[in-house]
Amino acid sequence: MRGLAMKKIGEIGWVEKEKPYCGPNDALIKPLALSPCTSDVHTVWEGAIGERKDMILGHEGCGIVAEVGDQVKDFKVGDRVMVAAITPDWNSLEAQAGFAMHSGGMLAGWKFSNFKDGMFGEYFHVNDADGNLALIPEGVSIEEACMLSDMVPTGFHGVELADVQFGDTVLVVGIGPVGLMAVAGANLRGASRIIAVGTRPVCREAAKKYGATDFIGYKEGPIDEQVLKLTNGAGVDKAIIAGGTVETLEPVIKCLKPGGKVGNVNYLGEGTYINIPRVEWGVGMGHKQILGGLMPGGRLRLEKLAKLIQCGKLDVTHLLTHKFYGFDKVEDALLLMKDKPADLIKPIVIL
Ligand code: NDP
Ligand code: ZN
Repeated sequence: MRGLAMKKIGEIGWVEKEKPYCGPNDALIKPLALSPCTSDVHTVWEGAIGERKDMILGHEGCGIVAEVGDQVKDFKVGDRVMVAAITPDWNSLEAQAGFAMHSGGMLAGWKFSNFKDGMFGEYFHVNDADGNLALIPEGVSIEEACMLSDMVPTGFHGVELADVQFGDTVLVVGIGPVGLMAVAGANLRGASRIIAVGTRPVCREAAKKYGATDFIGYKEGPIDEQVLKLTNGAGVDKAIIAGGTVETLEPVIKCLKPGGKVGNVNYLGEGTYINIPRVEWGVGMGHKQILGGLMPGGRLRLEKLAKLIQCGKLDVTHLLTHKFYGFDKVEDALLLMKDKPADLIKPIVIL
């Protein structure tokens, strides 16, 4: 089968591989829709997780079950399924401890396009099919199902990590597709003011639709100064980081209230250390919590998040600015994600 792979750091290309082996608890999926992620860009062009040779990329998609193992109970050949970007081993100790995304070791629930071939192949392999697949429900399109792989669960996880409560003033740093879903999630959780950081007008337009109330540009001066000015010196209750660099935490801590919480879902592709400003962290005693997390996967979460779309409470279609048709276009879509033209939020490829 063909697949679009990371050939080495800085290089992508098409490869021919054997169709993956389907174990007794596994499934093979033939993709229906695929989307590239900024994480693929960090992985290939920043070498953020180290060298990979001929590894098929991609971890956002949905498809049709092409094969199932004989122990799989709830899915059969021909089912149209959603698949999360993170596919934990649900019987692991880490999963039992509540951190399935780290099943088998830190970040090890992230298998696609990390240490096994991802979804940009004619077929892709899903471990623990009963735990990691969900049927695409009535009223959810394949485009929407694709956004449920990664964008919705990651943005929403930022909201969970920041523990957004009714009436909170929330800062969302980065309003690419992940940050936009963080804005939407914060809004659903009852945030009052949502201050969004990002410059692309197309993203700002979408952020308004998802509930952002104020905008600041990280290119127009330090984020903390702008936030403190907007809030008359009070700062924000909660912050979600979905963009930026290792430098981004510092201004966020500076404009976070004592007792505030930061949820980071940004993949830090470069740099060695992250600075925490001593004084604004309450000289170590400010009760400002920092959590960073890989999105949770799993069937239950996919099914629940899909219900938000089914019930008309979440519209992910504002994310999809560029549509491609045909498997070969996966390469164009990934290159678009790398180049980030001003009119882009998220590309999708319909097969
Ligand atoms: P995008 O590149 O589309 O968006 C990034 C956003 O951050 C844009 O709004 C951009 O603004 C803004 N930004 C860029 N530089 C800075 C800066 N220096 N300071 C503040 N804001 C900045 O990314 P995605 O939305 O696709 O992904 C966001 C992150 O989430 C990525 O790192 C991705 O790898 C990660 N991710 C993490 C997952 C997880 O499980 N934790 C899963 C999926 C993705 P502008 O408008 O100027 O472009
Ligand atoms: Zn991703």
